[in-house]
Amino acid sequence: MSRFWLRMLPQFLLFGGVALLVWAAVNASYALVFLILAVLIPFFWMLHHLALIDNWLDSPTVESVPEGTGLWEGVFSRLRRLVRQRNQRQQELESELRDLQQAIAALPDAIVILDSADHIEWCNPMAEEYFGLDGKRDLGQQVSYLIRQPQFVDYLADHQKSPDQPCILKLSNERILSVQIIPYADRKNLLLARDITRLENVERMRRDFVANVSHELRTPLTVVNGFLETLSDMGGSPDAEMMKRSLDLMTGQTDRMKRLVEDLLTLSRLENVENLLSEEDVNVPALVRQIHQDALSLSGKNHQIELHIETEVGLCGNTEELRSGFGNLVSNAIRYTPKDGKIELTWKMEGRHAVFSVKDSGIGIELEHIPRLTERFYRVDRSRSRGTGGTGLGLAIVKHVLNRHQARLEISSKFGQGSIFRAVFPPSRLLAEAGCIR
Ligand code: ADP
Repeated sequence: MSRFWLRMLPQFLLFGGVALLVWAAVNASYALVFLILAVLIPFFWMLHHLALIDNWLDSPTVESVPEGTGLWEGVFSRLRRLVRQRNQRQQELESELRDLQQAIAALPDAIVILDSADHIEWCNPMAEEYFGLDGKRDLGQQVSYLIRQPQFVDYLADHQKSPDQPCILKLSNERILSVQIIPYADRKNLLLARDITRLENVERMRRDFVANVSHELRTPLTVVNGFLETLSDMGGSPDAEMMKRSLDLMTGQTDRMKRLVEDLLTLSRLENVENLLSEEDVNVPALVRQIHQDALSLSGKNHQIELHIETEVGLCGNTEELRSGFGNLVSNAIRYTPKDGKIELTWKMEGRHAVFSVKDSGIGIELEHIPRLTERFYRVDRSRSRGTGGTGLGLAIVKHVLNRHQARLEISSKFGQGSIFRAVFPPSRLLAEAGCIR
């Protein structure tokens, strides 16, 4: 028997006992009237309390739980406790939900919750940014009405066939997204989109790089291979003249491959983030004087090469890297300046910056090429670059060397008149009297 009926039992026994006494002392009619009253009065008492509960249910707050007496006092106080616990739990859940929404909103990925018919139920700010959605206005809309790229619409229709396979979307603003639809709960879907523009660009650069290197190596290899085949076809004794010419040409091609491989290794060393710049006191005036001497012998008196050392300031940096960077600028000036042209090497202070500049009166560069010159294998004129022994990597090496010294490369040029390449070093790189103290 439940607690409620146990508590009611003494009352029933009391009424039954009194009714029996009345029956014995008076008569059965009085006993019956007594019993009817004993049932009716509690009945209306119950109805009154039911009415209170019914009223309360219109706005069920803790404060408005009715007061009661006797049996009802216990019922109402339990009700009050239950409502208070429910309110507290609801507040906790709301706060957890808010935290969760804030965490999802802060994610760098776009998230859209779709119902079983692909209507939008919720989306985070990143989804608004990527797909131009409006988190309030577009709720309930079919997602394919708002993300209309055909690849996405096809993917949405077929995503169950290959659930692990994301769909790659290219947006009109050149952004590349990897979009995946993940089913969850009861036929709901989570649409996740991640910006993979950088990854895709790196991947494209890697592909281009491999293709470029293969192409650069294939040409000299084909030439060498051709000579070797010709020599082998000629049998035992090719004539000495022919032999010398072939060997000279093959040496030229293998030199070219060697230069390319050396430049590739230099570039990979410079690009390796684990290979930190090993710093020392660099006597730049002495370095520039050596580079001037090398330039004179490389030019073979074909150019007028002037040297202007206007400051004795040195740099905190790496001598060999700077030699390679400055050397590339000078060798370019020589290679792209016709015979009898003028080249000036200058080391000077400009305000608080130190500048190494190479000015030539060479062929110059059209404006549209200048922003791309430091890309690997970018050449304005392929045949001229190759003809002068260029690998297409010189300025990429210069850019990396300067970056590692927090310096910048400035290029100005007039097509047909000449160019100026300037390496500008920040004051923080200038050698303090105490030497390299970084
Ligand atoms: P390359 O080995 O082809 O010279 P670089 O990276 O050193 O490669 O230079 C990239 C391109 O920039 C060259 O192919 C050339 O077209 C152009 N360039 C570089 N320096 C000069 C210069 N001093 N005068 C004219 N063009 C230049």
